[in-house]
Amino acid sequence: MNAAERPPKRRRTGSQGDLVDRLKRQTGQIAVINTVVTAVSQSLDLNETLQTALRAVLSIIPVESSGISLVDEQAGELVMRAQYGLRLDFVTEPMRIKMGHGMSGQAVTTGELVVVRGELDKDDPRLYVPAFANEATRAMVLAPMHVRGKVIGVLSVMSHDPYDFSEEELNLLRLVADQIGIAIDNARLFEAAKREQSRLEAVLQSTADAIIALDLRGNVSVFNQAAESLFKVNSDDWIGKSVLDVPLPELIHDKFKQGIWQAPAENGNVRFDIALEGDHFYLMILSRVYAHTQTDEMQMDGWVTVFQDVTHLKEAERARLNFIQQAAHDLRNPLGVTLSALTMLNRNWKEPTPADQEVFNIALTGINRMQDLIDDLLNLEHIESGVDFRHEPMSISELVERCVGDMGPMLQRREQKMMVVAEPSLPTFYGDERWLYRALMNLLSNAHKYTPIGSMIKLRASAYGNYMVLSVEDNGPGIPMDAQLKIFDRFFRIRTTEKVPGTGLGLAIVKSVAEKHGGRAYVSSEPGYGATFRMILPISKPDDESSQLPA
Ligand code: ADP
Repeated sequence: MNAAERPPKRRRTGSQGDLVDRLKRQTGQIAVINTVVTAVSQSLDLNETLQTALRAVLSIIPVESSGISLVDEQAGELVMRAQYGLRLDFVTEPMRIKMGHGMSGQAVTTGELVVVRGELDKDDPRLYVPAFANEATRAMVLAPMHVRGKVIGVLSVMSHDPYDFSEEELNLLRLVADQIGIAIDNARLFEAAKREQSRLEAVLQSTADAIIALDLRGNVSVFNQAAESLFKVNSDDWIGKSVLDVPLPELIHDKFKQGIWQAPAENGNVRFDIALEGDHFYLMILSRVYAHTQTDEMQMDGWVTVFQDVTHLKEAERARLNFIQQAAHDLRNPLGVTLSALTMLNRNWKEPTPADQEVFNIALTGINRMQDLIDDLLNLEHIESGVDFRHEPMSISELVERCVGDMGPMLQRREQKMMVVAEPSLPTFYGDERWLYRALMNLLSNAHKYTPIGSMIKLRASAYGNYMVLSVEDNGPGIPMDAQLKIFDRFFRIRTTEKVPGTGLGLAIVKSVAEKHGGRAYVSSEPGYGATFRMILPISKPDDESSQLPA
Protein backbone atom coordinates (compact mmCIF):
# COMPACT_ATOMS: atom_id res chain seq x y z
CA MET A 1 0.00 0.00 0.00
CA ASN A 2 1.55 3.28 -0.97
CA ALA A 3 1.25 6.29 1.30
CA ALA A 4 -1.45 7.94 -0.85
CA GLU A 5 -3.77 4.97 -0.22
CA ARG A 6 -3.29 4.99 3.53
CA PRO A 7 -6.38 6.03 5.51
CA PRO A 8 -6.20 9.38 7.34
CA LYS A 9 -4.35 8.88 10.61
CA ARG A 10 -6.61 9.81 13.50
CA ARG A 11 -9.59 11.77 12.39
CA ARG A 12 -12.81 9.93 13.32
CA THR A 13 -16.09 11.76 12.79
CA GLY A 14 -19.55 11.17 14.26
CA SER A 15 -18.63 8.76 17.06
CA GLN A 16 -19.41 9.40 20.76
CA GLY A 17 -15.71 9.23 21.60
CA ASP A 18 -14.96 11.85 19.01
CA LEU A 19 -17.53 14.24 20.52
CA VAL A 20 -16.00 13.87 23.98
CA ASP A 21 -12.63 14.31 22.41
CA ARG A 22 -13.76 17.53 20.69
CA LEU A 23 -15.33 18.89 23.84
CA LYS A 24 -12.20 18.18 25.75
CA ARG A 25 -10.19 19.91 23.07
CA GLN A 26 -12.46 22.95 23.09
CA THR A 27 -12.39 23.40 26.84
CA GLY A 28 -8.67 22.82 26.87
CA GLN A 29 -8.02 25.30 24.07
CA ILE A 30 -7.29 28.30 26.27
CA ALA A 31 -4.96 26.27 28.47
CA VAL A 32 -3.16 24.96 25.39
CA ILE A 33 -2.71 28.44 23.98
CA ASN A 34 -1.46 29.63 27.35
CA THR A 35 1.08 26.83 27.47
CA VAL A 36 2.35 27.71 24.00
CA VAL A 37 2.46 31.43 24.76
CA THR A 38 4.34 30.84 28.00
CA ALA A 39 6.83 28.58 26.24
CA VAL A 40 7.54 30.90 23.34
CA SER A 41 7.67 34.06 25.44
CA GLN A 42 10.34 32.67 27.74
CA SER A 43 13.25 33.84 25.65
CA LEU A 44 13.93 37.09 23.86
CA ASP A 45 16.47 35.35 21.66
CA LEU A 46 14.94 35.11 18.20
CA ASN A 47 16.39 31.70 17.24
CA GLU A 48 15.42 30.18 20.55
CA THR A 49 11.90 31.62 20.24
CA LEU A 50 11.56 30.13 16.75
CA GLN A 51 12.73 26.66 17.88
CA THR A 52 10.46 26.66 20.95
CA ALA A 53 7.52 27.76 18.80
CA LEU A 54 8.07 24.89 16.35
CA ARG A 55 8.12 22.30 19.11
CA ALA A 56 5.26 23.92 21.03
CA VAL A 57 2.94 23.80 18.05
CA LEU A 58 3.69 20.13 17.46
CA SER A 59 2.80 19.40 21.07
CA ILE A 60 -0.78 20.45 20.35
CA ILE A 61 -1.23 19.24 16.74
CA PRO A 62 -0.36 15.57 16.24
CA VAL A 63 1.75 15.89 13.09
CA GLU A 64 5.52 15.60 12.83
CA SER A 65 6.83 18.69 11.09
CA SER A 66 6.52 22.43 11.33
CA GLY A 67 8.14 25.50 9.87
CA ILE A 68 8.24 29.26 10.21
CA SER A 69 8.78 31.70 7.37
CA LEU A 70 9.12 35.43 7.99
CA VAL A 71 8.33 38.31 5.69
CA ASP A 72 11.40 40.17 4.43
CA GLU A 73 9.77 43.44 3.46
CA GLN A 74 12.81 44.89 1.77
CA ALA A 75 13.29 41.89 -0.51
CA GLY A 76 9.52 41.40 -0.92
CA GLU A 77 9.97 37.74 0.02
CA LEU A 78 8.87 35.20 2.53
CA VAL A 79 11.96 33.50 3.93
CA MET A 80 12.02 30.15 5.74
CA ARG A 81 13.71 30.86 9.07
CA ALA A 82 13.16 27.67 11.09
CA GLN A 83 11.98 24.08 10.51
CA TYR A 84 11.37 20.95 12.51
CA GLY A 85 10.80 17.35 11.42
CA LEU A 86 11.24 17.93 7.68
CA ARG A 87 13.45 15.59 5.66
CA LEU A 88 15.17 18.29 3.62
CA ASP A 89 16.88 21.43 4.86
CA PHE A 90 15.04 24.60 3.79
CA VAL A 91 16.75 26.93 6.25
CA THR A 92 20.52 26.83 5.69
CA GLU A 93 20.04 27.91 2.08
CA PRO A 94 16.69 29.45 2.96
CA MET A 95 13.63 28.78 0.88
CA ARG A 96 12.52 32.14 -0.50
CA ILE A 97 9.08 32.72 -1.86
CA LYS A 98 8.18 35.92 -3.73
CA MET A 99 5.38 37.72 -1.94
CA GLY A 100 1.96 36.83 -3.33
CA HIS A 101 3.15 33.51 -4.79
CA GLY A 102 2.67 29.91 -3.75
CA MET A 103 0.57 28.70 -0.85
CA SER A 104 2.36 30.59 1.89
CA GLY A 105 2.25 33.75 -0.24
CA GLN A 106 -1.49 33.25 -0.36
CA ALA A 107 -1.65 32.96 3.45
CA VAL A 108 0.20 36.28 3.73
CA THR A 109 -1.89 38.21 1.20
CA THR A 110 -5.28 36.88 2.35
CA GLY A 111 -4.37 36.79 6.05
CA GLU A 112 -6.30 33.46 6.20
CA LEU A 113 -5.34 29.85 6.84
CA VAL A 114 -4.42 27.81 3.78
CA VAL A 115 -5.19 24.10 4.17
CA VAL A 116 -3.60 21.65 1.72
CA ARG A 117 -4.75 18.07 1.58
CA GLY A 118 -3.05 15.31 -0.40
CA GLU A 119 0.42 15.02 -1.84
CA LEU A 120 1.77 17.80 -4.03
CA ASP A 121 3.73 16.84 -7.11
CA LYS A 122 6.47 19.09 -8.42
CA ASP A 123 4.28 20.38 -11.29
CA ASP A 124 1.51 21.42 -8.93
CA PRO A 125 0.73 25.07 -9.74
CA ARG A 126 0.29 25.82 -6.02
CA LEU A 127 3.91 24.94 -5.39
CA TYR A 128 6.35 27.87 -5.79
CA VAL A 129 9.49 25.92 -4.87
CA PRO A 130 9.42 22.60 -6.83
CA ALA A 131 12.02 21.09 -4.47
CA PHE A 132 9.41 21.10 -1.73
CA ALA A 133 7.57 18.34 -3.64
CA ASN A 134 10.41 15.98 -2.58
CA GLU A 135 9.23 16.42 0.99
CA ALA A 136 6.14 14.39 0.01
CA THR A 137 3.83 15.90 2.61
CA ARG A 138 0.24 14.69 2.50
CA ALA A 139 -1.41 17.31 4.70
CA MET A 140 -0.40 20.86 5.48
CA VAL A 141 -1.77 24.02 7.09
CA LEU A 142 -0.22 27.44 6.57
CA ALA A 143 -1.28 29.91 9.25
CA PRO A 144 -0.53 33.65 8.86
CA MET A 145 0.94 35.36 11.94
CA HIS A 146 -0.78 38.71 12.55
CA VAL A 147 1.05 41.34 14.58
CA ARG A 148 -0.05 44.97 14.95
CA GLY A 149 -2.38 44.76 11.95
CA LYS A 150 0.20 43.17 9.64
CA VAL A 151 1.13 39.61 8.64
CA ILE A 152 4.75 39.13 9.68
CA GLY A 153 5.12 35.53 8.51
CA VAL A 154 3.61 32.08 8.20
CA LEU A 155 3.56 29.19 10.65
CA SER A 156 3.19 25.85 8.86
CA VAL A 157 2.44 22.38 10.15
CA MET A 158 2.95 19.38 7.86
CA SER A 159 2.37 15.67 7.94
CA HIS A 160 4.09 13.08 5.78
CA ASP A 161 1.11 10.82 6.39
CA PRO A 162 -2.41 11.75 5.37
CA TYR A 163 -4.06 13.75 8.11
CA ASP A 164 -7.42 15.46 8.37
CA PHE A 165 -7.16 18.67 10.46
CA SER A 166 -10.28 19.24 12.58
CA GLU A 167 -12.02 22.60 12.82
CA GLU A 168 -10.79 22.95 16.43
CA GLU A 169 -7.24 22.28 15.39
CA LEU A 170 -7.48 24.84 12.63
CA ASN A 171 -8.93 27.33 15.11
CA LEU A 172 -6.19 26.59 17.54
CA LEU A 173 -3.56 27.06 14.83
CA ARG A 174 -5.10 30.38 13.85
CA LEU A 175 -4.82 31.66 17.45
CA VAL A 176 -1.47 30.11 18.26
CA ALA A 177 0.08 31.50 15.05
CA ASP A 178 -0.77 35.04 16.13
CA GLN A 179 0.62 34.46 19.61
CA ILE A 180 3.83 33.01 18.19
CA GLY A 181 3.98 36.02 15.86
CA ILE A 182 3.85 38.38 18.85
CA ALA A 183 6.64 36.46 20.60
CA ILE A 184 8.77 36.57 17.43
CA ASP A 185 8.07 40.27 17.01
CA ASN A 186 9.09 40.94 20.63
CA ALA A 187 12.30 38.97 20.16
CA ARG A 188 13.05 40.90 16.98
CA LEU A 189 12.35 44.25 18.68
CA PHE A 190 14.57 43.22 21.56
CA GLU A 191 17.36 42.19 19.20
CA ALA A 192 17.03 45.46 17.28
CA ALA A 193 17.23 47.38 20.57
CA LYS A 194 20.23 45.28 21.60
CA ARG A 195 21.92 45.93 18.27
CA GLU A 196 21.22 49.65 18.64
CA GLN A 197 22.59 49.58 22.17
CA SER A 198 25.76 47.77 21.18
CA ARG A 199 26.24 50.12 18.23
CA LEU A 200 25.90 53.05 20.64
CA GLU A 201 28.26 51.38 23.10
CA ALA A 202 30.79 50.82 20.32
CA VAL A 203 30.57 54.50 19.37
CA LEU A 204 30.92 55.55 23.01
CA GLN A 205 33.86 53.25 23.54
CA SER A 206 35.74 54.09 20.37
CA THR A 207 35.27 57.85 20.38
CA ALA A 208 38.42 59.88 21.03
CA ASP A 209 36.61 62.09 23.54
CA ALA A 210 36.53 60.94 27.13
CA ILE A 211 32.93 60.32 28.22
CA ILE A 212 31.52 59.81 31.70
CA ALA A 213 27.78 59.32 32.09
CA LEU A 214 25.99 59.51 35.43
CA ASP A 215 22.59 58.36 36.57
CA LEU A 216 20.24 60.60 38.51
CA ARG A 217 22.06 59.93 41.77
CA GLY A 218 25.40 60.91 40.34
CA ASN A 219 26.59 57.29 40.02
CA VAL A 220 28.75 56.34 37.03
CA SER A 221 26.89 54.45 34.29
CA VAL A 222 29.39 54.87 31.42
CA PHE A 223 33.14 55.41 31.65
CA ASN A 224 34.57 54.93 28.17
CA GLN A 225 38.07 53.85 27.14
CA ALA A 226 39.22 57.39 26.39
CA ALA A 227 38.14 58.41 29.92
CA GLU A 228 40.00 55.41 31.36
CA SER A 229 43.25 56.44 29.71
CA LEU A 230 42.79 60.16 30.40
CA PHE A 231 42.18 59.66 34.12
CA LYS A 232 44.20 56.40 34.52
CA VAL A 233 41.20 54.73 36.08
CA ASN A 234 39.83 51.22 35.52
CA SER A 235 36.17 51.72 34.70
CA ASP A 236 35.08 48.26 35.97
CA ASP A 237 35.91 49.35 39.52
CA TRP A 238 33.67 52.42 39.39
CA ILE A 239 30.54 51.61 37.42
CA GLY A 240 27.59 52.15 39.78
CA LYS A 241 29.66 54.17 42.26
CA SER A 242 29.41 57.90 42.91
CA VAL A 243 31.49 59.97 40.52
CA LEU A 244 32.83 61.84 43.54
CA ASP A 245 34.46 58.60 44.77
CA VAL A 246 36.23 57.96 41.46
CA PRO A 247 39.89 59.04 41.78
CA LEU A 248 39.62 62.00 39.39
CA PRO A 249 41.50 65.31 39.83
CA GLU A 250 39.86 67.48 42.49
CA LEU A 251 39.16 70.13 39.88
CA ILE A 252 37.00 67.67 37.92
CA HIS A 253 35.05 66.74 41.06
CA ASP A 254 34.43 70.47 41.66
CA LYS A 255 33.18 70.95 38.12
CA PHE A 256 30.85 67.97 38.45
CA LYS A 257 29.39 69.48 41.63
CA GLN A 258 29.11 72.90 40.07
CA GLY A 259 27.79 71.72 36.69
CA ILE A 260 25.11 69.43 38.04
CA TRP A 261 23.47 72.42 39.68
CA GLN A 262 24.09 74.86 36.88
CA ALA A 263 23.10 72.80 33.82
CA PRO A 264 19.93 74.47 32.58
CA ALA A 265 16.83 72.28 32.50
CA GLU A 266 15.98 72.91 28.86
CA ASN A 267 18.34 70.79 26.76
CA GLY A 268 21.10 72.87 28.22
CA ASN A 269 24.66 72.13 29.05
CA VAL A 270 27.44 73.77 30.99
CA ARG A 271 30.95 74.12 29.68
CA PHE A 272 34.17 74.42 31.61
CA ASP A 273 37.68 75.09 30.37
CA ILE A 274 39.99 72.76 32.23
CA ALA A 275 43.75 72.56 32.34
CA LEU A 276 45.12 69.15 33.31
CA GLU A 277 48.62 68.01 34.09
CA GLY A 278 51.11 68.16 31.25
CA ASP A 279 49.75 71.42 29.83
CA HIS A 280 46.69 69.80 28.32
CA PHE A 281 43.49 71.77 27.94
CA TYR A 282 40.05 70.21 27.86
CA LEU A 283 36.58 71.49 27.27
CA MET A 284 34.31 69.70 29.75
CA ILE A 285 30.68 69.72 28.57
CA LEU A 286 28.13 68.49 31.06
CA SER A 287 24.58 67.97 29.78
CA ARG A 288 21.36 66.62 31.18
CA VAL A 289 20.09 63.43 29.54
CA TYR A 290 16.38 62.87 28.97
CA ALA A 291 14.68 59.57 28.12
CA HIS A 292 11.17 58.47 27.16
CA THR A 293 9.16 56.96 30.00
CA GLN A 294 6.78 54.04 29.40
CA THR A 295 3.98 56.58 28.95
CA ASP A 296 6.15 58.26 26.32
CA GLU A 297 6.85 61.37 28.36
CA MET A 298 10.33 62.82 28.50
CA GLN A 299 11.96 62.49 31.89
CA MET A 300 15.40 63.37 33.11
CA ASP A 301 17.60 60.29 33.23
CA GLY A 302 21.01 61.55 34.33
CA TRP A 303 24.00 63.44 32.97
CA VAL A 304 26.58 62.88 30.31
CA THR A 305 29.97 64.58 30.38
CA VAL A 306 32.29 64.85 27.41
CA PHE A 307 35.92 65.92 27.76
CA GLN A 308 37.24 67.31 24.49
CA ASP A 309 40.96 67.81 24.12
CA VAL A 310 41.25 71.41 22.93
CA THR A 311 45.01 71.74 23.53
CA HIS A 312 45.67 72.24 19.81
CA LEU A 313 43.06 75.03 19.71
CA LYS A 314 44.61 76.72 22.74
CA GLU A 315 48.02 76.43 21.15
CA ALA A 316 46.72 77.93 17.91
CA GLU A 317 45.06 80.71 19.93
CA ARG A 318 48.28 81.42 21.78
CA ALA A 319 50.25 81.45 18.52
CA ARG A 320 47.73 83.87 17.01
CA LEU A 321 47.97 86.12 20.06
CA ASN A 322 51.77 86.01 19.94
CA PHE A 323 51.67 86.99 16.30
CA ILE A 324 49.34 89.90 17.00
CA GLN A 325 51.43 91.01 19.95
CA GLN A 326 54.53 90.89 17.81
CA ALA A 327 52.79 92.80 15.01
CA ALA A 328 51.52 95.38 17.51
CA HIS A 329 55.02 95.76 18.91
CA ASP A 330 56.47 96.19 15.40
CA LEU A 331 53.84 98.82 14.61
CA ARG A 332 54.29 100.66 17.89
CA ASN A 333 58.03 101.06 17.46
CA PRO A 334 58.01 103.29 14.34
CA LEU A 335 55.08 105.17 15.84
CA GLY A 336 57.11 105.89 18.95
CA VAL A 337 60.03 107.03 16.83
CA THR A 338 57.74 109.32 14.77
CA LEU A 339 56.20 110.74 17.92
CA SER A 340 59.58 111.63 19.45
CA ALA A 341 60.68 113.16 16.15
CA LEU A 342 57.54 115.30 16.06
CA THR A 343 57.98 116.36 19.71
CA MET A 344 61.57 117.31 18.99
CA LEU A 345 60.52 119.24 15.91
CA ASN A 346 57.92 121.12 17.94
CA ARG A 347 60.48 121.99 20.62
CA ASN A 348 63.01 123.30 18.07
CA TRP A 349 60.45 125.05 15.98
CA LYS A 350 61.12 128.76 16.42
CA GLU A 351 58.11 130.45 14.91
CA PRO A 352 55.60 128.01 13.43
CA THR A 353 52.79 129.62 11.46
CA PRO A 354 49.21 128.72 12.53
CA ALA A 355 48.98 126.57 9.40
CA ASP A 356 52.21 124.73 10.38
CA GLN A 357 50.82 124.25 13.87
CA GLU A 358 47.59 122.78 12.47
CA VAL A 359 49.47 120.30 10.28
CA PHE A 360 51.58 119.39 13.28
CA ASN A 361 48.46 118.80 15.43
CA ILE A 362 46.87 116.62 12.74
CA ALA A 363 50.02 114.47 12.63
CA LEU A 364 50.09 114.21 16.43
CA THR A 365 46.40 113.27 16.68
CA GLY A 366 46.85 110.68 13.95
CA ILE A 367 49.73 109.04 15.77
CA ASN A 368 47.88 109.03 19.08
CA ARG A 369 44.79 107.50 17.45
CA MET A 370 46.93 104.86 15.82
CA GLN A 371 48.44 104.00 19.18
CA ASP A 372 45.01 103.76 20.83
CA LEU A 373 43.79 101.56 18.00
CA ILE A 374 46.71 99.18 18.35
CA ASP A 375 46.21 99.01 22.13
CA ASP A 376 42.47 98.37 21.87
CA LEU A 377 42.84 95.76 19.14
CA LEU A 378 45.47 94.02 21.19
CA ASN A 379 43.29 94.11 24.29
CA LEU A 380 40.31 92.75 22.41
CA GLU A 381 42.28 89.90 20.87
CA HIS A 382 43.76 89.09 24.23
CA ILE A 383 40.50 88.93 26.19
CA GLU A 384 38.71 87.01 23.42
CA SER A 385 41.44 84.40 23.26
CA GLY A 386 40.88 83.69 26.95
CA VAL A 387 44.65 83.17 27.28
CA ASP A 388 45.86 83.97 30.83
CA PHE A 389 42.33 84.74 31.99
CA ARG A 390 42.20 84.50 35.79
CA HIS A 391 39.37 83.50 38.04
CA GLU A 392 40.58 84.78 41.38
CA PRO A 393 38.97 86.21 44.51
CA MET A 394 38.87 90.00 44.34
CA SER A 395 37.17 92.99 45.93
CA ILE A 396 34.74 94.93 43.77
CA SER A 397 34.83 97.86 46.25
CA GLU A 398 38.61 98.19 45.77
CA LEU A 399 38.18 98.02 42.00
CA VAL A 400 35.59 100.81 42.12
CA GLU A 401 37.84 102.92 44.34
CA ARG A 402 40.76 102.52 41.93
CA CYS A 403 38.69 103.48 38.89
CA VAL A 404 37.27 106.55 40.68
CA GLY A 405 40.81 107.66 41.60
CA ASP A 406 42.13 107.16 38.06
CA MET A 407 39.19 109.01 36.47
CA GLY A 408 39.61 112.05 38.78
CA PRO A 409 41.94 114.24 36.65
CA MET A 410 39.97 113.59 33.45
CA LEU A 411 36.67 114.51 35.12
CA GLN A 412 38.17 117.66 36.57
CA ARG A 413 39.19 118.88 33.14
CA ARG A 414 35.55 118.87 32.05
CA GLU A 415 34.12 119.88 35.43
CA GLN A 416 32.20 116.61 35.62
CA LYS A 417 31.06 115.02 38.86
CA MET A 418 30.96 111.36 39.75
CA MET A 419 28.59 109.81 42.27
CA VAL A 420 29.52 106.37 43.56
CA VAL A 421 26.93 104.04 45.03
CA ALA A 422 28.57 100.84 46.21
CA GLU A 423 27.02 98.55 48.79
CA PRO A 424 29.22 98.56 51.90
CA SER A 425 29.58 94.81 52.21
CA LEU A 426 29.84 93.43 48.73
CA PRO A 427 30.66 89.70 48.65
CA THR A 428 34.04 88.50 47.42
CA PHE A 429 33.94 88.28 43.65
CA TYR A 430 35.73 85.67 41.50
CA GLY A 431 37.14 87.13 38.33
CA ASP A 432 40.02 88.84 36.55
CA GLU A 433 40.68 92.23 38.13
CA ARG A 434 42.86 93.50 35.25
CA TRP A 435 40.13 92.97 32.72
CA LEU A 436 37.32 94.26 34.92
CA TYR A 437 39.38 97.43 35.50
CA ARG A 438 39.80 97.83 31.71
CA ALA A 439 36.05 97.35 31.10
CA LEU A 440 34.92 99.70 33.86
CA MET A 441 37.41 102.37 32.76
CA ASN A 442 36.08 102.08 29.18
CA LEU A 443 32.53 102.72 30.40
CA LEU A 444 33.58 105.62 32.64
CA SER A 445 35.73 107.26 29.97
CA ASN A 446 32.86 106.95 27.45
CA ALA A 447 30.55 108.68 29.95
CA HIS A 448 33.23 111.33 30.36
CA LYS A 449 33.85 111.72 26.58
CA TYR A 450 30.30 111.71 25.30
CA THR A 451 28.56 113.87 27.91
CA PRO A 452 28.78 117.66 28.05
CA ILE A 453 30.93 119.72 30.40
CA GLY A 454 29.61 119.79 33.95
CA SER A 455 27.55 116.59 33.61
CA MET A 456 27.00 113.94 36.28
CA ILE A 457 28.17 110.30 36.10
CA LYS A 458 26.86 107.64 38.49
CA LEU A 459 28.81 104.48 39.20
CA ARG A 460 26.95 101.70 41.02
CA ALA A 461 28.05 98.31 42.32
CA SER A 462 25.54 95.97 43.92
CA ALA A 463 25.00 92.29 44.47
CA TYR A 464 21.72 90.53 43.65
CA GLY A 465 21.69 86.90 44.69
CA ASN A 466 24.59 85.25 42.89
CA TYR A 467 25.08 88.20 40.54
CA MET A 468 27.17 91.36 40.72
CA VAL A 469 25.85 94.35 38.82
CA LEU A 470 28.23 97.16 37.80
CA SER A 471 26.57 100.14 36.13
CA VAL A 472 27.67 103.47 34.72
CA GLU A 473 24.94 106.04 34.16
CA ASP A 474 25.30 109.46 32.51
CA ASN A 475 23.01 112.33 31.58
CA GLY A 476 24.50 112.88 28.12
CA PRO A 477 22.92 112.57 24.65
CA GLY A 478 22.04 108.89 25.12
CA ILE A 479 22.07 106.23 22.38
CA PRO A 480 19.61 106.25 19.45
CA MET A 481 17.33 103.20 19.46
CA ASP A 482 18.70 101.66 16.23
CA ALA A 483 22.28 102.05 17.49
CA GLN A 484 21.55 100.30 20.81
CA LEU A 485 21.58 96.91 19.04
CA LYS A 486 24.97 97.48 17.40
CA ILE A 487 26.73 99.52 20.02
CA PHE A 488 28.80 96.57 21.32
CA ASP A 489 30.00 95.58 17.80
CA ARG A 490 33.65 96.13 16.85
CA PHE A 491 34.30 99.53 15.25
CA PHE A 492 30.73 100.74 15.64
CA ARG A 493 30.56 104.46 16.32
CA ILE A 494 27.58 106.82 16.27
CA ARG A 495 27.96 109.31 13.48
CA THR A 496 27.18 112.35 15.62
CA THR A 497 30.05 111.52 17.96
CA GLU A 498 32.68 110.90 15.30
CA LYS A 499 34.61 114.04 16.24
CA VAL A 500 35.28 112.66 19.70
CA PRO A 501 38.51 110.60 19.57
CA GLY A 502 37.84 106.90 19.83
CA THR A 503 38.46 103.54 18.19
CA GLY A 504 35.00 101.98 18.27
CA LEU A 505 36.47 99.03 20.21
CA GLY A 506 35.89 100.10 23.84
CA LEU A 507 32.43 98.56 24.21
CA ALA A 508 33.43 95.41 22.28
CA ILE A 509 36.07 94.93 25.00
CA VAL A 510 33.44 95.52 27.73
CA LYS A 511 31.16 92.87 26.17
CA SER A 512 33.96 90.36 25.84
CA VAL A 513 35.13 90.91 29.43
CA ALA A 514 31.56 90.41 30.72
CA GLU A 515 31.15 87.23 28.69
CA LYS A 516 34.50 85.78 29.76
CA HIS A 517 33.21 86.12 33.32
CA GLY A 518 30.08 84.18 32.35
CA GLY A 519 27.95 87.31 32.35
CA ARG A 520 26.77 89.92 29.84
CA ALA A 521 26.80 93.63 29.11
CA TYR A 522 23.92 95.73 27.90
CA VAL A 523 22.75 99.31 27.52
CA SER A 524 19.51 101.04 28.33
CA SER A 525 18.97 104.55 27.11
CA GLU A 526 16.24 107.00 26.29
CA PRO A 527 17.80 109.10 23.55
CA GLY A 528 18.31 112.66 24.76
CA TYR A 529 18.23 111.65 28.43
CA GLY A 530 21.50 109.83 28.97
CA ALA A 531 22.55 106.20 28.92
CA THR A 532 23.16 103.45 31.46
CA PHE A 533 25.64 100.66 30.67
CA ARG A 534 25.53 97.56 32.87
CA MET A 535 27.64 94.46 33.34
CA ILE A 536 25.88 91.56 35.08
CA LEU A 537 28.38 89.01 36.29
CA PRO A 538 27.91 85.77 38.22
CA ILE A 539 29.72 85.95 41.56
CA SER A 540 30.24 82.14 41.29
CA LYS A 541 31.53 80.78 44.54
CA PRO A 542 33.18 77.43 43.74
CA ASP A 543 32.87 76.26 47.34
CA ASP A 544 29.17 77.03 47.60
CA GLU A 545 27.57 74.44 49.88
CA SER A 546 24.70 74.07 47.45
CA SER A 547 27.24 72.65 45.00
CA GLN A 548 26.82 69.12 46.32
CA LEU A 549 25.53 66.17 44.40
CA PRO A 550 21.96 65.23 45.26
CA ALA A 551 21.79 62.47 47.87
P1 ADP B 1 34.81 104.61 21.18
O1 ADP B 1 34.33 105.35 22.36
O2 ADP B 1 36.27 104.37 21.22
O3 ADP B 1 34.34 105.16 19.89
P2 ADP B 1 33.16 102.47 22.12
O4 ADP B 1 33.03 101.09 21.61
O5 ADP B 1 33.50 102.67 23.53
O6 ADP B 1 34.19 103.16 21.15
O7 ADP B 1 31.80 103.20 21.84
C1 ADP B 1 31.16 103.04 20.59
C2 ADP B 1 30.29 104.22 20.29
O8 ADP B 1 29.18 104.25 21.18
C3 ADP B 1 30.97 105.52 20.54
O9 ADP B 1 31.70 105.91 19.39
C4 ADP B 1 29.82 106.44 20.77
O10 ADP B 1 29.24 106.83 19.55
C5 ADP B 1 28.81 105.57 21.47
N1 ADP B 1 28.83 105.72 22.94
C6 ADP B 1 29.51 104.98 23.82
N2 ADP B 1 29.26 105.37 25.07
C7 ADP B 1 28.40 106.39 24.99
C8 ADP B 1 27.76 107.23 25.97
N3 ADP B 1 27.97 107.07 27.28
N4 ADP B 1 26.92 108.18 25.50
C9 ADP B 1 26.71 108.33 24.19
N5 ADP B 1 27.27 107.57 23.22
C10 ADP B 1 28.12 106.62 23.62
